[in-house]
Amino acid sequence: MPSLYIDGSWTTGSGGTAPVINPFDASVVTDVDQAGPDDVERAVAAARAAFDSGPWRSTSTGERGAILGRIAELLVRDKEEIARLETLDTGKTLAESRIDVDDVTSVFRYYAGLADKDAGRIVDTGQPTVVSRIVHEPVGVCALITPWNYPLLQLSWKVAPAVAAGNTMVIKPSEVTPLTSIHLVKLCEEAGIPAGVVNIVLGDGPTVGAPLTEHTDVDMVSFTGGLTTGQAIIRASAETVKRTAVELGGKNPNIIFADTDFELAVDYAMLAVFLHSGQVCSAGARLIVEDSLHDRLVDEVVRRADRIRLGNGLDDGVEVGPLVSAAHLAKIENFVESARSEGATVRCGGRRPDDPALRDGYFYRPTVLTGVTRDMRVIREETFGPIMTVERFTTVDEAIALGNDTDYGLAGGVFTRDMTVAQRVASGLRHGTVWINDFHPYVPGAEWGGMGRSGNGRELGPTGLAEYQEIKHVWTNTAPEPQRWFTGRS
Ligand code: NAD
Repeated sequence: MPSLYIDGSWTTGSGGTAPVINPFDASVVTDVDQAGPDDVERAVAAARAAFDSGPWRSTSTGERGAILGRIAELLVRDKEEIARLETLDTGKTLAESRIDVDDVTSVFRYYAGLADKDAGRIVDTGQPTVVSRIVHEPVGVCALITPWNYPLLQLSWKVAPAVAAGNTMVIKPSEVTPLTSIHLVKLCEEAGIPAGVVNIVLGDGPTVGAPLTEHTDVDMVSFTGGLTTGQAIIRASAETVKRTAVELGGKNPNIIFADTDFELAVDYAMLAVFLHSGQVCSAGARLIVEDSLHDRLVDEVVRRADRIRLGNGLDDGVEVGPLVSAAHLAKIENFVESARSEGATVRCGGRRPDDPALRDGYFYRPTVLTGVTRDMRVIREETFGPIMTVERFTTVDEAIALGNDTDYGLAGGVFTRDMTVAQRVASGLRHGTVWINDFHPYVPGAEWGGMGRSGNGRELGPTGLAEYQEIKHVWTNTAPEPQRWFTGRS
């Protein structure tokens, strides 16, 4: 079956095909069609026409909410199939993929519920003969560009509110992991979304992503991915003054005070960073520990990190899969080598596993680095891999200062039994999400996004819907009188 969907038809592209690689063993899962420049043009034209003149513009918010509800039901129906595809494509464990599909379903349900609750508002002008209304309208044609770490989840945070608000869209998933995005578009079609409203084009950033960001008929780009790509997208969008929403990387602190229950501290220190091999934008890669707890905590984390079961995400009992690609593995190896050469101590990991069964895949052992300094690359840059760095603090202010010592500002965690200290840290951290005695959870009703170089928008929650809306003020004078400002006298 062809893998591009343009104007309501599945089609092959003019860019040939590309293999989708299973990162567990580098085997080819399948080949998918690639878009050429003409396919991108056709997709944008279809989305433009569907927005400007198709039946979509006259759908009510209730109808759009019902469509989102149907997509949620279809996600439940296809859960196992989608979860398997996500694991084959990303390497993450099936348990994680299943949670992802449940989360995606919740996101569609949330925006199904919110769609018709968003009625704009009436403004009191103090003039009884005037009705002043604020109405929310769709932005128009949206380019939705997504990364490979949570392919379906990140896409759902965009598609669900974009549909709820009445936009049309061209989806450009990561070229590394396109399979579940294709599946979601099939579900959109099955749920009754009209032709041209949702389109998907596949291919790499320069060929397919960049033309979308430059296109005069695209009104908005919603992007999730790396910092340098985000910067390029903002620059490219400047020419046409497009709306841009960018969700970028993180260098997230996990601050643990000594009064934390020891088992909890060890457990969350590891969960924060080693989940999905650290390929999580909110990964708590910087463990920042109170001095008196440092040695004991690190010893135990190292002992357990060395025992994390790596393997095929489809197999029972596997705790962590591979990295997503050979290129990403090389990047992680490079980070550890640079830290080593700058004087960091590798307490565990720091290399690929010895197990011959994992030799063909892109595996890297969970790694703990101590003796790191704040100027090292591994502290300053997002590694996006299974690398934990450990720093220490003695005072609350020092912990906050370390947590904020980054250009990013996506998420952070603080662990302590002392709620006064916890709240002080939470208010001191310049990060878009702060977890107290927890790490990673989110709910569709709560906004997600970053400060600083972690991005400029918010996804999820009511703000995640507002990102896809224009605000229009409609002023109605019900009893107009001539103003006689200009008298007509010469
Ligand atoms: P990436 O920036 O390499 O690619 C993301 C997408 O952009 C891909 O679809 C890619 O093809 C496309 N792209 C590349 N160049 C482009 C260009 N010039 N114009 C338009 N599109 C272009 O990111 P990645 O490696 O796929 O994903 C990892 C990054 O995503 C990490 O930095 C991670 O922190 C970030 N991320 C952030 C969040 C968040 O919520 N803030 C969530 C998930 C991932």
